[in-house]
Amino acid sequence: MNSKSLAAYERVVGSVAVSQLQQLADNLAGARVVHVNSTKAGGGVAEILHWLIPLMNDLGLNASWEIVEGRDAYFNVTKAFHNGLQGSPVTLTPSMVKVYEETVAANADRLRPILQEADYVFIHDPQPAFLRELCPDRRGKWVWRCHIDVSRPYRQVWSYIKKRVADYDASIFSMPHFAQSLPHPQFIIAPSIDPLSEKNMDLPQAEIDGVLRRFGLAPDHPILTQISRFDRFKDPLGVIQAFKLLNSSVDAQLVLAGGGATDDPEGEMVYREVLDVAEGSDRIFVLQLPSDAHSTINALQRASTIIIQKSLQEGFGLTVTEAMWKGKPVIGGNVGGIRLQVHNHHTGYLVDSPEGAALRIRELLRQPERIGMIGDKARQFVRENFLLTRHLREYLTLMLGFRRGLENHLIRV
Ligand code: UDP
Repeated sequence: MNSKSLAAYERVVGSVAVSQLQQLADNLAGARVVHVNSTKAGGGVAEILHWLIPLMNDLGLNASWEIVEGRDAYFNVTKAFHNGLQGSPVTLTPSMVKVYEETVAANADRLRPILQEADYVFIHDPQPAFLRELCPDRRGKWVWRCHIDVSRPYRQVWSYIKKRVADYDASIFSMPHFAQSLPHPQFIIAPSIDPLSEKNMDLPQAEIDGVLRRFGLAPDHPILTQISRFDRFKDPLGVIQAFKLLNSSVDAQLVLAGGGATDDPEGEMVYREVLDVAEGSDRIFVLQLPSDAHSTINALQRASTIIIQKSLQEGFGLTVTEAMWKGKPVIGGNVGGIRLQVHNHHTGYLVDSPEGAALRIRELLRQPERIGMIGDKARQFVRENFLLTRHLREYLTLMLGFRRGLENHLIRV
């Protein structure tokens, strides 16, 4: 858990941003806020909740974090929801719906007292979405926070999830493009990173060198890295394909590093596929990391020449922000929330294919001065847009909006 106090952020974001947060939060002193998701380890949502809850408490709110628990069968269904919401054709059978609803109902028995008493409940993604119907006697406002790119969902899955979320007081999406036809206000809030977390804090060069030695990476050759859960939407095979398209005069190394999330049952299978395709190349490093390998990831990102995030669908892509904060150019898939972060030719490159990724990698490696220029702009862009103080301010504004009876209006914060 993050134990830094808000004051520690002043040196990164300035004292005005911090005092503005305090001013907003004073109007919400003691408010009971509960966030619910389905894992404390792995993936961007857990990453955000690890700092968001302590900082809300530091500001005088009474925030807590709950998770829905379930067996493999439940996480297989919720992964199917996830895939379907991002557009994959998945079939939702009555038995899948039964597993989902029974699992959430069992969690509701445990969570109902705290959820029904809360002033604000934020339910993250589809895994816990059914909780709302199971807590009819609520006193607070319930918000569905969707982190997924739901711009073109598979209809059968969306029509089921839409029923589960229709009765919330509002929903939050990461970009306007994802907003859906729902009978309540929709807010647009982009995610953010914690610049002082183990994942993003400055590191001594000796620690970075140590991580390179540990994995047998050569510091004097370019390092291209994608950090991701092993998930098909992150397109690790497309990254390897791009790497193989670089001609042999590019003496680079490719790192594909990631672990699983406890709510993602497909990781191991995709990891095996990646190992198969990478086999035979001594320049491709496939690293399976434990879920708490934050400083290792930090070091890998800092040691990299270029960061790749060639996703095929992406709600946001915290890994993109993390890399940009470290002054790295990102070659990202031209999809979803990556487009919010990577402004083509300015803060990185957007690509639509392995060929496009290979072209941009080659181009950047030939012009080292561009790597520095793009990296500097990227860091500045993150400072202005994607640090946690902006994110927290928008959550506070939303809660205050409810307190002032603004729920009947569509507010873009
Ligand atoms: N991450 C991690 N270990 C891994 C893979 C990813 O700690 O093995 C982190 C990564 O640094 C980022 C988050 O998990 O902070 C992933 O968030 P993102 O939005 O990029 O993707 P998601 O996994 O949520 O789809």
